Amino acid sequence: MNEIRKNFCPLCGKEVELEEMICGMCAECYIKKEKIIEPPRDSKITICPRCGSLYEGGWKKSKSIESAAISFISSKILISNEIDDVELNLSPERLNSKRVLVHGCLKGKVKGEVIEKKMDILVHVAYNICDRCSRISGRYYESIVQIRAYERNPTKLEIEEIKKIASEIVNNGYERGDEKSFFTDIKEFEKGLDLYLGSKKIAKQICKSVRSRYGGDLVDSAKLVGEKDGKKNYRVTHSLRLPKFLRGDIISYEGNIVQIRTIGTKIMGRNLSNGKTIMLESHKDKLRGIKKVGSIKEAAETDLITVAGKEIQVLDPETDEVVTISKPYFIDDSSEKDKVKVIKMDSGLIAVLPHKNDI
Ligand SMILES: [Zn+2]
Ligand SMILES: [Zn+2]
Repeated sequence: MNEIRKNFCPLCGKEVELEEMICGMCAECYIKKEKIIEPPRDSKITICPRCGSLYEGGWKKSKSIESAAISFISSKILISNEIDDVELNLSPERLNSKRVLVHGCLKGKVKGEVIEKKMDILVHVAYNICDRCSRISGRYYESIVQIRAYERNPTKLEIEEIKKIASEIVNNGYERGDEKSFFTDIKEFEKGLDLYLGSKKIAKQICKSVRSRYGGDLVDSAKLVGEKDGKKNYRVTHSLRLPKFLRGDIISYEGNIVQIRTIGTKIMGRNLSNGKTIMLESHKDKLRGIKKVGSIKEAAETDLITVAGKEIQVLDPETDEVVTISKPYFIDDSSEKDKVKVIKMDSGLIAVLPHKNDI
């Protein structure tokens, strides 16, 4: 015969099945007597007043003081293992700059019995500048990325795009927990841009990304700035020079007129008379001797009058005279176009490829 083993709760004297007892007492007494939820004894958090980071063994990014207080409490609060289906809600109330009151509500079950416990936890806030902000204010930097261009100044668009690429890399680095991922300074000049960076690694990533987008030449130089624990400390300058050509430039290459369509580590252009694709390395040496003869920026739209054989007749946009010029590859005899873009070169007019995004 199966006998259910029972005992008496020593606190309330109630008869309880042995299986239902927790720590030698009934569930009700356990909930009343034991600490089923224990807030951290010393609820004090340290916040960086500049960036809002929270110190927890190391500096961690945090959105606000309130979210730092919640993150601290949820990592430190102790909840009894005897509770099933635990649901803990924490909501912060900022009292002033030094105190946050966290309202907590615990829901769960103890031996099938539903429990709900509310508590308020006062969190004290202390302030300390984090390592990252102290490096930034100390103007700490490990690398400089210098952006220049050959035989021209970088355009406003290039500068804006490069700053955007660099900011994304710096932000991603910081999100991933790289404390040195910051700009110490950004200097803009007529001739280019200097980015001062807290991290060598981030500087290298920026160079790689900008170079794959714009091409050009990268030269690195290192300068010894000190020695610590027998380790030499270098500051690196990456000098990135963008190619002399831009998208939309018209160049004279091996006797042909070529319009540049894309820029990158490789420069791609189209021969305007036969449509052949030309690929050029964007290094300075590979572009030596190749001359720019015009730019889509100077192009004017004009009337296309006739197409005949290898020639077309257009209206000179400046003089309104009808002139005959060689036919570009993108116009054929059956073309129904009545407009064409032309630029004026020393040798006369030339029809160029229209493109919506050409600047
Ligand atoms: Zn009891
Ligand atoms: Zn900070």
